[in-house]
Amino acid sequence: DKIRGAANGDGRTVFSFEFFPPKTEEGVENLFDRMDRMVAHNPSFCDITWGAGGSTADLTLDISNRMQNMKVMYPVYIDLLNSDIDLESALPDRWIVLNEVICVETMMHLTCTNMPVEKIDHALDTIKSNGIQNVLALRGDPPHGQDKFVQVAGGFACALDLVQHIRAKYGDYFGITVAGYPEAHPDMIQDGIATEEAYNSDLTYLKRKVDAGADLIITQLFYDTDIFLKFVNDCRQIGITCPIVPGIMPINNYKGFLRMTGFCKTKIPDKITNALEPIKDNEEAVRAYGIHLGTEMCKKILANGINTLHLYTLNMEKSALAIIMNLGLIEESKVLRSLPWRRPTNVFRV
Ligand code: FAD
Repeated sequence: DKIRGAANGDGRTVFSFEFFPPKTEEGVENLFDRMDRMVAHNPSFCDITWGAGGSTADLTLDISNRMQNMKVMYPVYIDLLNSDIDLESALPDRWIVLNEVICVETMMHLTCTNMPVEKIDHALDTIKSNGIQNVLALRGDPPHGQDKFVQVAGGFACALDLVQHIRAKYGDYFGITVAGYPEAHPDMIQDGIATEEAYNSDLTYLKRKVDAGADLIITQLFYDTDIFLKFVNDCRQIGITCPIVPGIMPINNYKGFLRMTGFCKTKIPDKITNALEPIKDNEEAVRAYGIHLGTEMCKKILANGINTLHLYTLNMEKSALAIIMNLGLIEESKVLRSLPWRRPTNVFRV
């Protein structure tokens, strides 16, 4: 299905997880194990990135297809003490797990970098034949070693072109998501700030992507929730009506945080810098702070009437799950139980 409905929400808060293609085969298998466990918590969708410069094209396609068609063993925990089933004595503890098979709604990222239209169509045809109906249409960053995005011969210059192409060629088959930038796209930011003119031009361009057929916006990461809320308001003011999903990146380690925020030119509020500075060499403490901060950011976003959250997991499960658990969106017992969970060996069927 297309994810628009789920992300649009029906009063229910929904969440989703982003992953990236690992470098090794072993990494891919580990990722699928992790996805198994994370998907058991019922995200509205999962997405997989397209490597910079098209570097992971084949792998992203493979992972997308496998993800969409993976049958996840969904551990359903039944509290025997509160059920009629008298199997307690036969089981190691009061919980049993039933296998319920669920499928994962998958969204594949697709960028224009180094992609002539034939390659774009090959990617879209491949996922279509595997039943995937969701694409995150992006321009992409310049390939390694280049400063500026260069349109490849026979390819597209920007995400708007790609959205137009997908709608023209594939009609309504795909749900299309596009990227939004609460602090303006990094190209628009000079000396840490985008001028009002640059910010507004970015917004107008975002509206063109939506008018061309995008159904959903996922934002770039941010750490100042007020900036995100202002962005949503500004989008609404210029007539963007589709859901705008905040991209939340839990802080997992200090160096990674500095690298990502530096690359994206993200503003870091003083209170975050001050909190991190004394603990920056203590990974555990940084991760715990990241979970606390992510939870507080999400609480504020939810309190402002936005009921969808998108977690940049960086292929790690603990922080993302801890945040949604803190928000009460999944049960603690399931997290505790499912973290060490592998493809079931200790599953009891009734
Ligand atoms: P576009 O929407 O085309 O625009 C980029 C900027 O250029 C715009 O914000 C606008 O200011 C300007 N611009 C472009 N065309 C016009 C125009 N005609 N008129 C006026 N202004 C214009 N990168 C990857 O390589 N792989 C991924 O999987 C990936 N996933 C991402 C997911 C999300 C949610 C986000 C936010 C980013 C992701 N990126 C990814 C990064 C993204 O590719 C870069 O930020 C890239 O530089 C811009 O892509 P875009 O689709 O936003 O570009």
